Amino acid sequence: LVSRVHQQEDTIIDLGEVRVGGGTPVMVAGPCAVESYEQVRQVAAVLKAAGVTVLRGGAFKPRTSPYEFQGLGIDGLKILKEVAAEFGMQTISEIVHPAHVELAGEYIDVIQIGARNMQNFELLKAAGEVQTPVLLKRGLAATLEEFLHAAEYIVSRGNRQVMLIERGIRTYERATRNTLDISAVPILKQESHLPVLVDVTHSTGRKEIMAPCAKAALAAGADGVMVEVHPNPAAALSDAAQQLDFEAFGRFYAEVKRSGLL
Ligand code: PEP
Ligand code: MN
Repeated sequence: LVSRVHQQEDTIIDLGEVRVGGGTPVMVAGPCAVESYEQVRQVAAVLKAAGVTVLRGGAFKPRTSPYEFQGLGIDGLKILKEVAAEFGMQTISEIVHPAHVELAGEYIDVIQIGARNMQNFELLKAAGEVQTPVLLKRGLAATLEEFLHAAEYIVSRGNRQVMLIERGIRTYERATRNTLDISAVPILKQESHLPVLVDVTHSTGRKEIMAPCAKAALAAGADGVMVEVHPNPAAALSDAAQQLDFEAFGRFYAEVKRSGLL
C-alpha cells in the first residue's frame, strides 16, 4: 500500500497552514523535550514569528539511560495543546505505548513513532487504528525496506496519513552522532508515495552542519526538515549538545531559506 506501484500520486498530509508532501517543503521545529509550559511557549513564539507552524516536542522520552529525564508524559502533551492553541500551530510528539495512541489524538496533531520503536509492531498496529497522522522515524539500523514495511503496518490497518523521516543510521563514523543517509530521500520518494522528511538534529548531532545538511535534504527532494530548538540548550534536560538556541535557529533558517529550496 505504501508503494508507488500501488499509488502513483503523492500522499499529501494537511497540517493546518501547511501540506506535507504537496510540493512545498515544510520546516518542523521545537525542543527535544517538553520541559515546561514557559519553555514550550518561548520556542513557539519564536518559531511562529519566523513563519514555522509545525511544533515538535517530546513528552515521552525514550532515553538510553533510565536515570535520564524521561519526559513529562501526558502533562507534556497538555502543554503542547495549550501552546499550539495560543499560537495557532500544529504539534508533533512521540508516543511510545500503544495504549496512549488513541488518547494522543486529543492533544496533538501528529503522533511520532521514534527510531527505537520503528519495529514495535504493536505500536505500529495501534497507530494504524486511528486517523491521527503519524511521523515514522527510521530505525537506528533499519534498511529502507524494513522502514517501508514498518510504514506498511500502519497503512494496512487503515491510517493512510504516514510521513517518513530519515534521522541518520548507525555506522562506524563518529564525526557525526549518526550518519545522515541522504540517498534515503530519493530512494524513498521513488519507492513510495508517502512524504519524506529529514531530521538534521539527530542525524548529525552537530549544529554547524545542520544548515548544509538541510539544504542537501531539500535538494534531494525531501518534503520537509526537522530541527531541535531550545531557549537555553546548555540547560536542556535532553540533547543539550545539539539543540539550536534562538539565534542559531535564526541563522540556520535564514541560510536554508536563502537557498530557495524552502
Ligand atoms: C526525537 O525526535 O525526539 C527522537 C527521540 O529521535 P529518534 O527517535 O530519531 O532518536
Ligand atoms: Mn532530541
